[in-house]
Amino acid sequence: MRKVLVLIEAKAGNLRGVSLEALTAAQRIAEDGEIIAVVFGSDAVHYANVLGKHGANKVYIIRNEELKVYTTDAYSQAMRQVIDEVEPDAILMGHTAIGKDLAPRIAGRFGLGLVSDVVDVQVEDGEVIFTRPIYSGKAYVKKKVVSGIPFATIRPNNFPVSELNRKIEIVHFYVEIKDLRTIVKEVVRKSTGGVNLSEAKIVIAGGRGVMSAEGFKPLQELADALGGAVGGSRGACDAEYCDYSLQIGQTGKVITPDLYIACGISGAVQHLAGMSTAKVVVAINKDPEALIFQIADYGIVGDLFEVVPLLTEVFNKV
Ligand code: FAD
Repeated sequence: MRKVLVLIEAKAGNLRGVSLEALTAAQRIAEDGEIIAVVFGSDAVHYANVLGKHGANKVYIIRNEELKVYTTDAYSQAMRQVIDEVEPDAILMGHTAIGKDLAPRIAGRFGLGLVSDVVDVQVEDGEVIFTRPIYSGKAYVKKKVVSGIPFATIRPNNFPVSELNRKIEIVHFYVEIKDLRTIVKEVVRKSTGGVNLSEAKIVIAGGRGVMSAEGFKPLQELADALGGAVGGSRGACDAEYCDYSLQIGQTGKVITPDLYIACGISGAVQHLAGMSTAKVVVAINKDPEALIFQIADYGIVGDLFEVVPLLTEVFNKV
């Protein structure tokens, strides 16, 4: 009977999809055991039923002025107190900006072995085995934690969201946050359009072939028609056609959408590192020799400025 602790994240009043996926991963580890969600903030109580629906047995709600805005210091202090209280057999969180920052800090403080960017979890012969990509997604490795309890961050869009409809117990947990070395005075958010790129099921990405910032407009229109997000290659970001927050690849975001449409992207290995695990890849490129066609499930040899508006027109009619 394992107890699994899952850090839940919310953004703009909505629970993040990857947090719900982490509950599914937790279910595989806990088996008949207990899944305990941890949520920070004053809205936390509103999420309790949704968390029960997706598999949590218990939710720890933590309200504290110092936790209103994320800082590594405050969140790791809070998580430390929750971990001491719950004494979990495993800990999971999303491989998000917060997860990537917080998990190593907690692992370091508790002496836990951390497996990051996990795409699969199984229990084999009673041991928790995590699968993660290596060599920029060219191979996968199975890992088990031998020092401390299993602890992992979960890559978005790799686990189904479960519907278990559990009755959830709510625990209001008080934490003491002290001696903070970082104070956030203001948060300035960049708008990147409606759908979150990291968790989007459909991504329309533009490369240097888009030619200008203006050239991204037809891509945004296609994304809107499909309910997807827009991304870019580093070539497009370097040329200032789009913001670096949209960069996909080895030095940008790693994404696993159901559908990835690459427009005017050549398919450099560093770009493929960020999107080759997409379930279906469509490439639009006017060069039939472009490398992207080697990994694409469907290829359209043509001018993106003709093909993309045609696709938008068709999808707007569906
Ligand atoms: P290009 O290679 O210039 O390709 C443009 C493509 O558009 C061409 O194939 C062309 O045929 C096509 N095209 C042009 N006009 C049209 C049109 N009208 N219609 C259709 N097709 C058209 N890159 C990333 O993307 N992400 C990363 O994270 C990343 N990290 C890197 C890290 C390192 C250490 C290094 C060295 C490089 C990294 N790069 C990364 C850069 C990478 O090597 C490539 O330079 C970059 O991906 C190229 O971007 P691109 O495909 O948009 O441009």
